[in-house]
Amino acid sequence: MGKGKKAFITGISGQDGSYLTEFLLEKGYEVAGFIRRTVANEPNNIKHLQDEIKIYHGDLTSPESIALALYDFQPDEIYNLAAQSSPLASFHDPIGTMSVTGLGAVHVFLRARQIVPKAKIYQASTSEMFGETKQVPQDEDTPIVPANPYAAAKVYAHWMASIFRRDKVQPQFISCGILFNHESPRRGVNFITRKISVAVACIKNGKKENIPLNEFGEPIVQNGKLVLGYLQSERDWGYAPDYVEAMWLMLQHEKPDEFVIATGEVHTVEDFCREAFAVVSLDWKDYVVTNQKFVPPVYTGPLKGNASKAKRVLKWQPKTTFKELVKIMVHHDLAKYA
Ligand code: NAP
Repeated sequence: MGKGKKAFITGISGQDGSYLTEFLLEKGYEVAGFIRRTVANEPNNIKHLQDEIKIYHGDLTSPESIALALYDFQPDEIYNLAAQSSPLASFHDPIGTMSVTGLGAVHVFLRARQIVPKAKIYQASTSEMFGETKQVPQDEDTPIVPANPYAAAKVYAHWMASIFRRDKVQPQFISCGILFNHESPRRGVNFITRKISVAVACIKNGKKENIPLNEFGEPIVQNGKLVLGYLQSERDWGYAPDYVEAMWLMLQHEKPDEFVIATGEVHTVEDFCREAFAVVSLDWKDYVVTNQKFVPPVYTGPLKGNASKAKRVLKWQPKTTFKELVKIMVHHDLAKYA
């Protein structure tokens, strides 16, 4: 179906980038992506794919590096997934977050407009844009009220995509996926779901050394306890491989548009803890403590998506249940942190 087509992915080494690469290679696409040149230079999520893809070193804050890659690769489809993607971290670096997550996206739109004007673009928008929402569930028409610098930067990119899409002179095919939280064993350890699955594994396995660090540089498990923020946060959690299919479907649709992608089910952080500790027959209440420093200054949520437009137009729906998702993550980490 994608035979002969070329896809360029920014953020290819991230959770979604790696699953999307597998998905597109399977469809017969030629895939290339951006990775940042770092000292370690070990994009673990795509290590197993490195012989099948083309890598460009680049950074979303450098329009020249975007231009060089697009000029050389000449993609038919561009998936803009690169971002400073942590809402909590964005409070510590709002300007840096804006320059990558907001302006970086617009650099991609502008360079694509000049170099590959026919390329279809996917922009990774987010349910975080709904922020302090009053409407539950949220859909494509729900008012946007961002509650953190990450969400504000995504709103900027989302609106710029909409403006370029509606341009009367040179309209661009830019579709925005308003994706609700989606998780997997490839989720960064600073994100709450992965923090929980890693902690469950370390506690169950009695691991005392080389425990991954949280965003404050402390081991995720300290004195046998996992420290979290607000346990009643309500989120709509799906499984990342199900969600990358929706990204692709958006670019196969005849016209660019915006789509909410979600399960429609809400769970609290406490629910996630309960399920995850139950996988290894432990009671979460014995291991989870809270600390105010993990609570964001402004509350986002409750986030619950209504994906009926995607279901109707794209024929997309999630395949993996909440219980299955938690199990997949815990089982993966039990083996990884043995
Ligand atoms: P992720 O795992 O954090 O991946 C982000 C990617 O962006 C990484 O490959 C990272 O590269 C790259 N990156 C960061 N800064 C960059 C820069 N300055 N230049 C070039 N690349 C840069 O995120 P994800 O979970 O896969 O999410 C993919 C996209 O969807 C993101 O835009 C995210 O904000 C958005 N989104 C995610 C969710 C979710 O629940 N996962 C929901 C809605 C929207 P390094 O490896 O070098 O850091």
